Amino acid sequence: MSAKYAVFGQPVAHSKSPQIHQAFAAQRSQTLNYERLGPQEDEFESAVETFFATGGLGANVTLPFKERAYAMCEVRTERAEQAQAVNTLWVENGQLHGDNTDGAGLLGDITRNLNWKLINKRILVVGAGGAVRGILGCLLTAGAQEVVITNRTFERAEELAQQFGIRAVALDALTDEAPFHIIINGTSASLAGASLPLPITILASNAYCYDMMYGEEPTPFMQWAQAQGADVSDGLGMLVQQAAESFYRWHGWRPATVALLKTMRDSSIETSV
Ligand code: NDP
Repeated sequence: MSAKYAVFGQPVAHSKSPQIHQAFAAQRSQTLNYERLGPQEDEFESAVETFFATGGLGANVTLPFKERAYAMCEVRTERAEQAQAVNTLWVENGQLHGDNTDGAGLLGDITRNLNWKLINKRILVVGAGGAVRGILGCLLTAGAQEVVITNRTFERAEELAQQFGIRAVALDALTDEAPFHIIINGTSASLAGASLPLPITILASNAYCYDMMYGEEPTPFMQWAQAQGADVSDGLGMLVQQAAESFYRWHGWRPATVALLKTMRDSSIETSV
């Protein structure tokens, strides 16, 4: 049985995780067997079991399997519990372990790669799906003055606000809010090329706006923010940083990410987890 790693998703063909993890391993002159696995909907659990029974050492999990991976785990990290979703799997002492590295990936990108300061800042998070559930716990450790959540379906924002002890504000009530220093778009609106109905009054001067989505062109949210004079970033750095966190979990050392991120941006690679 050879040591192997994989990403589970459906679809998974466009995932850049193999290249990212192989590039990390190459930093230590190592090679890595890391493959893409796209089981049918009803075969995810058996595929994971087979993978670990046949030499699998670590697996990433992406859409639509993160919640099912969480359910499979016998041991979970605190941040996986908070997210109720798992993107990193490994076996230890015969038990399936799960972690969620998305929040650490976002925080690492914002604070280390982009050097945006979060301490004492007012942060607005837009969206209340799986990705936002995955980042809130980490975000709340960053020393912000306040983290506020809003979402198209307000009840989902209220639910997360209650779980994480923060304030939810309806989209159409944002005009009553003081300006925010940082806005994080954790919706999938940009996937459909849609913009968000955000009033420009919520942007502080010199605001920073982060779209967790990434692609070759700036997203509609990034274009809106840029037009108001904000600094912007897409989520490519988050993708690389969350992979680095998974890598650290499996191999016990932290790969460098800045050069790889630059290479990926320079070559305009079309990316997905
Ligand atoms: P979900 O399907 O779980 O949630 C989607 C969210 O987007 C919901 O809050 C939904 O609102 C909102 N939404 C969808 N369309 C619109 C719209 N047109 N206008 C306003 N709100 C909208 O998706 P995920 O949470 O898993 O993913 C969200 C984004 O995060 C994706 O773009 C994904 O690519 C990105 N992501 C990036 C990662 C990275 O490493 N960079 C990692 C993980 C995710 P409602 O509740 O009303 O339906």
